[in-house]
Amino acid sequence: MKKKLIAGNWKMNGGLAANEALLGAVAAGLSEACADVAVCVPSPYLAQVAGLRGPVALGAQDVSAHESGAYTGEVSAAMLRELGVQYVIVGHSERRQYHGETDEQVAQKAQRALAAGLVPIVCVGETLAQREAGETELVVRRQLAAVIHLNGHCISEIVVAYEPVWAIGTGKTASPEQAQAVHAVLRAQLQAASAKADRIRLLYGGSMNAANAAELLAQPDIDGGLIGGASLKAPDFLTIVAAAS
Ligand code: 13P
Repeated sequence: MKKKLIAGNWKMNGGLAANEALLGAVAAGLSEACADVAVCVPSPYLAQVAGLRGPVALGAQDVSAHESGAYTGEVSAAMLRELGVQYVIVGHSERRQYHGETDEQVAQKAQRALAAGLVPIVCVGETLAQREAGETELVVRRQLAAVIHLNGHCISEIVVAYEPVWAIGTGKTASPEQAQAVHAVLRAQLQAASAKADRIRLLYGGSMNAANAAELLAQPDIDGGLIGGASLKAPDFLTIVAAAS
């Protein structure tokens, strides 16, 4: 059975002192964990967290679609790699929504990450309006198809995160059945593209917390979680890790 992955997405939160306290508490509570654990931190703190992380893997929240050059403000996959980064989130709905990232750009970012030896955590998910219009499957399949199309045989090296937009930061979690139904769609799409699809980890994200994690993680195609708010509180994050172990 594949190891589950619990990845915290700190988003634009943290500070030098707060990071140290949070990581110290997380690392201290992880001794028994047999899930993989990562934290995806704001870029300015990558170097700090690389030095403090202990058994926790380091992740970034975005990466440039370009290799290098005149792209002010962007961070390349090679730079992340050099800092000891293992995972990078691409296509988070907050980037699609607030920065207009397209499926093609997300696919290019995943490609840059893979080429540099990073594991992209590719986020897909529908808005409430899309769910209500019955378009959930269409939307997530389209978002994933762009990444499959561009990354071909490397696809087995990615992680996919299903994050329904209506569940992010709202306290409204997809039910385990709703999440599993979408994960099964994504798994089938990956299986059609790669013989190694069964080893790809499919994470659920969207108001996953200490109280609901166990039930979500018990679903056959849910291989971990991408955790926002609850990853900022060590006891909650550790409870989710324990539920995955
Ligand atoms: P919340 O767990 O705060 O809903 O955020 C989920 C998320 O967007 C993780 O990437």
